[in-house]
Amino acid sequence: MSNADPKRRIGLRSIGVLSERELSECPGVPSPQRLKAGPVVVIECNEEIPCNPCETLCEKGAIRIGQPITNTPVLEEEKCGGCGLCLAPCPGLAIFLVDASNPDRELVSFPFEFLPLPERGQIVDGLDRSGQVVTEAEVLRIQNPVHNNHTPIITLRVPPGYGMKVRSIRL
Ligand code: SF4
Ligand code: SF4
Repeated sequence: MSNADPKRRIGLRSIGVLSERELSECPGVPSPQRLKAGPVVVIECNEEIPCNPCETLCEKGAIRIGQPITNTPVLEEEKCGGCGLCLAPCPGLAIFLVDASNPDRELVSFPFEFLPLPERGQIVDGLDRSGQVVTEAEVLRIQNPVHNNHTPIITLRVPPGYGMKVRSIRL
């Protein structure tokens, strides 16, 4: 889709976050059925930029960019095992991991590059893509192994229906 396309006028380029329509059209976003089947990545990357570490890092071949390198990433949702290894290396901080398989709670993981880090068990504000508080969330895990190169991954427990809404936190 060309940048001159009117569909692109409202959304990432105009308001700084993906609109609902952009999300629904994004080839990196899994289907509702796949989301309910267990942990899976949500790739919120629809800019035509020269970037592909997500594709090269995924040993399952679940992310396809191909040629040219400016293609936007396509998720082959049945191949994603939900390991989360592609989250920290994404320079755009555009990859999330969502587990909506439990009707009583959902889990969402994302890179968090601010300090201080939250503590495990802490109750925090869950923010949506525009930075608005949408729910309370519990910090389940903070993973910061050496190979993450100083990009910690935070996993939150959020209420049902919020795994696809919460994209950051406020302490
Ligand atoms: S979570 Fe793991 S399996 Fe899924 S796309 Fe990322 S690296 Fe591949
Ligand atoms: S690594 Fe991140 S920014 Fe780069 S193409 Fe993949 S999802 Fe987009």
